[in-house]
Amino acid sequence: MAFNIAIDGPAGAGKSTIAKKAAGELGFMYVDTGAMYRTLALGLVAAGTDIEDEAALQRDLDAMKVEAVYQDGVQLMYLDGKDVTGQLRREEVGNMASLSSAKSPVRAKLLSLQRDVAAKYDLIMDGRDIGTMILPDAPLKIYLTASVEVRAKRRYDELCAKGEECDLAKIEKEIRERDWRDMNRDIAPLKQAEDAILVDSSYMSIEEVTQRIVSLARERME
Ligand code: C5P
Repeated sequence: MAFNIAIDGPAGAGKSTIAKKAAGELGFMYVDTGAMYRTLALGLVAAGTDIEDEAALQRDLDAMKVEAVYQDGVQLMYLDGKDVTGQLRREEVGNMASLSSAKSPVRAKLLSLQRDVAAKYDLIMDGRDIGTMILPDAPLKIYLTASVEVRAKRRYDELCAKGEECDLAKIEKEIRERDWRDMNRDIAPLKQAEDAILVDSSYMSIEEVTQRIVSLARERME
């Protein structure tokens, strides 16, 4: 049977960086479910869908084909047969993903995609509801978090380094809002699974968090 590790936590806690590194060390696949939500969001933005209109949302989702392809440990996302991986980090796509992921037809469309891949491969899957909803029987679940201030400062440093507009107070406010939305939505809210191990990365380096996860995985695989 495939060995699955679920990592959940709020935006900016370092989930994808750490999951990628830990997966590399363990020889596991890394599955980024946020990218799946972003792919549908890209399709919804392109179609100009009013996501509050249930019939329109269902119709446009039914017309979309989403696929995840794994190449040399990298996840590529395809929308209607086209590789859209490079377009997923755009701000408007992230905002639409945050809003549309609260809608049940959107979550339903991605459920089997996520479970099917987990049944086949040893992997680390990160997201918001992996330990609670998608893989409730995963033998290792991590809830990775960090304080709002630390997450905002990390994002600020990242944007400044790229020469983009960086305003710490604004970033902090956006993070608080996104946390609130993710934690308070009716369907699949972000929360720590009862059997998840809490890892607070506020005062840990990426390497320390990665090693903690790798050693927990090795213990549980024995
Ligand atoms: O993690 P990332 O920022 O790429 O996720 C984009 C959006 O998709 C998040 O704002 C979150 O609301 C949503 N998401 C989700 N469930 C997941 C992964 C992401 O609702 N498993």
